[in-house]
Amino acid sequence: MKLLRQYKNKVQKRFFRLELSRELYWRSKFIPPLGFIAVVLFSIYFYSSEISTSITTWAVVFSIIYALMYVLFFDGGAEPKEESYIYWTWSFILACCIAAAMWGIFPFIVFPSLGHSDQVALIMMLFAIISVPVPALSHCSPLVFTYSAIIVISGGSSFLIYHDGFDKHLAFMVVLLFACIMYLLEQRRVSKKILKSVDDKDLLKTSGITIKRLRHDKYHDSVTDLLNREGISTYLNRTDASLSSFIIFSLKVRDVDALYSSHSKSSIDEIIRDLASRLQASGFDHKIIAHLGLGEFLILVPGVEGNMSHSLGGDLFGLFEEPVTTFLGPMNFNLLIGCSAFPDDSSDKKEVVNFALAALKEADKHSGNRLERYTEDMAMKMNRRAFIRSQLSVAIKRKEFSVHIQPKINVQKNIVESGEVLVRWYSPSMGMVSPAEFIPIAESTSDIIPLGKWVLEETARILIGSSTLPEKFSLAVNVSVKQLTDPQFVPLVQEITGQLHGTGRSLELEITETMMITDEIEVNQALERISALGVGIALDDFGTGYSSLSYLASINADTLKLDKSFIDPIPQNGRHSSFVSTVIAMAHSLDMPLVAEGVETAEQYEWLSQNLCDTVQGYFISKPLALDEFFTWLDNNVCKETNQVSESVFSGNPP
Ligand code: C2E
Ligand code: CA
Ligand code: CA
Repeated sequence: MKLLRQYKNKVQKRFFRLELSRELYWRSKFIPPLGFIAVVLFSIYFYSSEISTSITTWAVVFSIIYALMYVLFFDGGAEPKEESYIYWTWSFILACCIAAAMWGIFPFIVFPSLGHSDQVALIMMLFAIISVPVPALSHCSPLVFTYSAIIVISGGSSFLIYHDGFDKHLAFMVVLLFACIMYLLEQRRVSKKILKSVDDKDLLKTSGITIKRLRHDKYHDSVTDLLNREGISTYLNRTDASLSSFIIFSLKVRDVDALYSSHSKSSIDEIIRDLASRLQASGFDHKIIAHLGLGEFLILVPGVEGNMSHSLGGDLFGLFEEPVTTFLGPMNFNLLIGCSAFPDDSSDKKEVVNFALAALKEADKHSGNRLERYTEDMAMKMNRRAFIRSQLSVAIKRKEFSVHIQPKINVQKNIVESGEVLVRWYSPSMGMVSPAEFIPIAESTSDIIPLGKWVLEETARILIGSSTLPEKFSLAVNVSVKQLTDPQFVPLVQEITGQLHGTGRSLELEITETMMITDEIEVNQALERISALGVGIALDDFGTGYSSLSYLASINADTLKLDKSFIDPIPQNGRHSSFVSTVIAMAHSLDMPLVAEGVETAEQYEWLSQNLCDTVQGYFISKPLALDEFFTWLDNNVCKETNQVSESVFSGNPP
């Protein structure tokens, strides 16, 4: 008991009990056959004419008991299921106790003429049988109780048999009892060893069952019991003829990971099991399925060529057409599939798995259901991504970044009062790297935090220190969600606003839609604190995220930046144009100025101006400019006192 209590804190009690039950199961398997052998031996050894009928009755009764025990407890072949193990243990202990008690009492009834030493031998044989599971039993019930019970059953019965006072038979019995106690002490030592093996991997050799289970866990996923990543890699090592050609599908069920962050593990596991069972039920013959976690699967279809990928992929999409019943109601999930074929794409089987995963990443860039077959181009991109990732933190330390500024024109007042700060990276080895390429990588590695801090400090330096900038001017900095959750971000913004106080210059932050509509408490708190500091918040890339107009009224933004994709089709496309004018009207009704992004032509500029758009940004006015170029641009085109823009700004293309 002490040992059990001691271990309760170290290992999960349930796991511990389960482990011991398994041990008991394994050891107890010997009891019925051992019982049979004992019955046979006993019958042969004690057979005599006077008691032959009794011996036969005895042998038949115990043969039946052992046969029944075997059929009841071990005949199924398979071990009991996890949830029924404990129940199984107690049932077996009970059955064992009843059988032992019967064997202990039976001799009184059927062999009255048996000599003492013969009776003791009978008891000892019983003892040998029931002590087989003692090491495991002693941890399911308290050690002291188990040992005492066995001593009482064996020794107690022996003493009861003795009627005639002390003689040489009693001496013989005492010696045997002493041997029993020695045997029990030995069993206790073995028990401790088993107990230790629960925790000590080196000693796991003591339990074949444990090794089997650990091996299973190593290669299988705990949620679905499908193979895991390691399991499928090991499978690929086989030199099976069916693996001379195969396709690997890397399949991701969209949104499962998003659900995971806001719901309990058990409810998501339920969904994942449903998804897994659909894949298992799919008609591909001999397919091998692995679950990598969070609704990401690998499906290996052996014996097929790469040209089958699209038709097989189509079958996979078909499996998910029906909604999945979830705790949130029926849900339709979109699938992302990346696939690669062996030996078509690579002669290295493991590389084919990586290729399928790379193709999945590519598919993830698109919305809805999507299948991508691996191409060499993807490998190049993957290598480049990995290279950029490895270079970023060094580049930040080496200050390989600079900021460019893209001016914005207030079209209604014809003035330049703001600009957007856009970071640039000139890498000595790769040349100019676009922020559209490295910002998402920096976000994934958290390098965005030091980089974003540097951009903010650089912007503050320009706003505070530049005499070329008009008196009243604001600079907008793009901010990533990781920065908002960084505890040092708001204090830095606060410090900058303090420095800008009374200068007429101000800071604005551009935040994308998806970041605004979040349940993350830290993000919402940061946004509120930033607003309270009087820093303007612009909703960037409006229209590319949730595209729901209804939430606009409830969010914390001061300005709306309409994405370039909405500006591109105007004024030619009537539907788009009327959508844009509706968005402008709606922004105004919410007291938000509207900035049109990516304005490239005089027609767009003209149309936006006429349709009361407030501010315009785009190549038609200027590309993002290096700092000195930007100051020259201001000098040439903008009046420093009034911020008025001269016609020259449109470089010969006045609107
Ligand atoms: P964004 O915030 O939407 O920035 C506008 C992007 O559109 C810029 O690309 C700009 O150069 C480009 N652009 C502006 N006008 C036009 C136009 O008329 N036509 C076309 N075709 N493009 C135009 P850029 O500089 O490559 O930046 C890409 C994205 O990288 C930005 O998109 C922004 O999300 C991100 N980014 C840039 N700098 C930073 C930064 O300092 N921090 C963070 N977090 N993100 C940044
Ligand atoms: Ca922006
Ligand atoms: Ca934008």
